[in-house]
Formats: sequence, C-alpha cells, structure tokens
Amino acid sequence: MGLYTRISSDTEGLGLGVGRQEDDTRTVAGLRGWDVACVYQDNDYSAFDVKVRRPEFERLLADLEGGAVDGVVAYDLDRFARQPADLERAIRIFDTRPGLVFATVQQDLDLSTSDGRTMARVMVAFANKSSMDTSRRIKRKNLELAQRGVPRSTRRPFGYEDDKVTIRPAEAELVRQAARDVLAGMGLHTIARRWNELGVRTPYGNPWLQSVLKSMLVSPRMAGYRIHQRDIARDAEGNPVMAKREPLLDVSTWESLCAVLKDPERTRRHTYTGGRKRLLSGLVRCGTCGVPMSCDKDFRRSIHTYVCKQQTTRGGCGTVAVSGPRMDELVTALVLRYLSDRAVVHEANPWVDEQRLHDVTTRISELMAAFTAGELTGAVVFPAVSKLEAQADELREARAAWLRDQALIVNRPENVASVWPELDLDRQRAVIESVISAVVVKPAARKGGRFDPSRVEVVWR
Ligand SMILES: [Zn+2]
Repeated sequence: MGLYTRISSDTEGLGLGVGRQEDDTRTVAGLRGWDVACVYQDNDYSAFDVKVRRPEFERLLADLEGGAVDGVVAYDLDRFARQPADLERAIRIFDTRPGLVFATVQQDLDLSTSDGRTMARVMVAFANKSSMDTSRRIKRKNLELAQRGVPRSTRRPFGYEDDKVTIRPAEAELVRQAARDVLAGMGLHTIARRWNELGVRTPYGNPWLQSVLKSMLVSPRMAGYRIHQRDIARDAEGNPVMAKREPLLDVSTWESLCAVLKDPERTRRHTYTGGRKRLLSGLVRCGTCGVPMSCDKDFRRSIHTYVCKQQTTRGGCGTVAVSGPRMDELVTALVLRYLSDRAVVHEANPWVDEQRLHDVTTRISELMAAFTAGELTGAVVFPAVSKLEAQADELREARAAWLRDQALIVNRPENVASVWPELDLDRQRAVIESVISAVVVKPAARKGGRFDPSRVEVVWR
C-alpha cells in the first residue's frame, strides 16, 4: 500500500501540513487493515502550473503499474489527481491491475468500480475548472501544437535522428524485430539483454531495462500517433492525431503488441511460484481441484515434476503430481502432430466488433463534449457515460484477448516440427499456447506407477 501526500501553497495556510496528511492517511490504511509499504510525498508550491512536475506521483503510478504497491491512500482526490489526465492515467492502471484498492481521507471513492470512477471524474473536472483559467492559455497552445502533430519532446526518440523526424534505420529495424519477437512469444528481458550485448543504448545513453523497453513498445508513438499528456492526442472531433514523421510500426502490429504486453496473464505466466519456468508452467491444471500446478525439481535426478500444491492463497488439493519430462514430451508430440496438418496462417483476420467499439467510444466523447460545452448536465451525462464505458471496457477486453490469440497464430513458425529443437523456451511455449488453453492431469491410479498418458486431457483452443 502506498500513501500519497502533497503540499500546495493554497492549503498550507489551513495548517494542513504533510505531517498531518500522513498521519490521517495512515489511520485510514490502518482502519482498513492495509500495510503501508511506502510514502510518496510531493512538494508542490505552484498549484496553478499545469506543467509542474510531480516526481513522487509518477513514481507512485509506476509502482502501482509494476506491482510494488497494491493500492493508494491519498488525503483527498484533488491532491492525488489535480488534472483529469492524471486521473485517467490512474484509472487505466486500475483497469489493467484488477484488485488494486483506493481510498482517501476525505471521500469514500472506489476507483475499481465504474460508479466510483464517474464520481471521481466529476469531482476532478469541477476542481480543475477553478484553477484552469490562468493555465488555459498555455494548455491551449500545447493542445494546438499537439493537434498539428508538431513533435515537442526535447530528446530524440529511439529510432529517429536528432531532427526527431528522420528514421535511423538500424534502430528502427531493432524495434521492428523486437515487435516480431514479442509477438512470437519472446520475453522482454531476453530482448533487452540482447540489445545491451550489442551495445545499443537509449537516447539518454543508458542500457536498456525491461521496463523501459516495454514502455517504449506500448507507446502510441510507435504507430505514429502524436502524444499529448501521455495519451494519444485527439483533434476537436476526437480523432487521433498522427505525428509528422514516419512510424516505426504499423497500427495493427502495434495494437497486437499492446495486447500481448498489457495482458495481465502475461505477468503470471512469466513469474512462477515453484521454481524455474518450464514448458508447461501455468498451463497444467490439477484434474481434481482445477488449480494450476506448480513445478518442483527433484535434485537427485535433476528432473522436474508438476505438482498440485496446497496453498492458502490459491487453494489446491495437494494430491496430484506428474512427471515433468513425460508431460512435456507428450504435449509437444500432440501439439506438433496437431499442427502438422494445419495450414500456416500469415494474415490476422479483422476483429468482428471493431465498428461497435468505435461507435461506443464516439458516443462517449460526444457526451463529454456536450457536458464540457454546457449543453448537457452532469446528471444526464455521467450515468450514460458510465454505462457506455462498461460496454467499451468489455469490448476492449474481448479485442485484446482476440489480438493476443491472433498474434500467437500468425507468428507461429512454418514447419514447426523441424525447427522445434532450435526454438527457445518462450517461443515453444507460445506455439503451445496458440493451440492449447490448458492441460488437465487426473490423479494416478496408484502411486509410483508408470506414466499413464490416459491421465492427461488436452483442452484445445
Ligand atoms: Zn489439486
């Protein structure tokens, strides 16, 4: 749990120092039984400057996204998210990490529900209006630049020359290769390590970290979108603005990449309890209780075993175990045989509900525009927007899942069987996951018997 406090000149006079904010937020966390892992404190004396940096707020968002903390207690919403854009960024993180909690000392708000979000949006929108007048001029200028697609960053983006427009071919090719590799199942750590070994550096001259590589690859600029306040810049009609330079990736590749990298399941599949990642880690389920089986290593024979473990957090009956090498061998054989008489697919199919999602998001921006222009009241707009947003969320989720599946299928190598031994573990797993959603193992008839393939049931996609 993280606590967030902020001093601002306009409330200092009320004696609302950081000390008291911290005490109060601690109390709230304590009442809810949450452990405090970290306190984030921004010293912010220029309350009306839209460009004021809040390094601790940024660190908090990164920690929320990365899993270092599981929620936030802030003194009040206004202190946490002064700008609607800040709130939207937080909401997006709450979207991608279900189970995050949010509380403030002053209000009862739950960012994980759409009602809570609507409430928060209204509050931030109104609080923002009062401090907006002085900053409106600057904002409008930035927005205008963004809408014209003028690059505004000070440092050259990776993949481009110092003019920020001309492509630097070697770097652009690295990015495209990384996209292909990720879609084929390779882990980001492997790619970051390779780049570092090749001596590739970030535009700041630093070695690549997995997290930096990820945020670059999921950035809308990869697909040529102009960014404004860390999101895709939109024109007055709500259409995305394209930057005035050639993109590194095409839109559909970039969208698939985002679907793969932002998949909440990905983190689970890439980090295991129960030892090193194996071919079927996360895919093998216990036939008695249904829980994913862990992987144990037998040190005497240096082979692995998939076992159902009794765990308080995840359940598990603890009664089923199966030989790892035998399982890996069997499932590999089944998958390769299954794929041998299937044609290789090179083109992803279009997603069926694209138009519906577009309609829903257009409707949301129309309603928000009507509210901003004062044509409709909040009482009319926000309940409708909430409903539409729930629909959009569902559609986006379906779309991301579909894109992930397509990425696995389209990027499956040709002649899988002949190249199989040369594929690394991540790529072998990607091939298996493209056709199998789970492998269920029933309990053995008697202990210590031979491996019995009839215990294994493959759930094909
Ligand atoms: Zn079990």
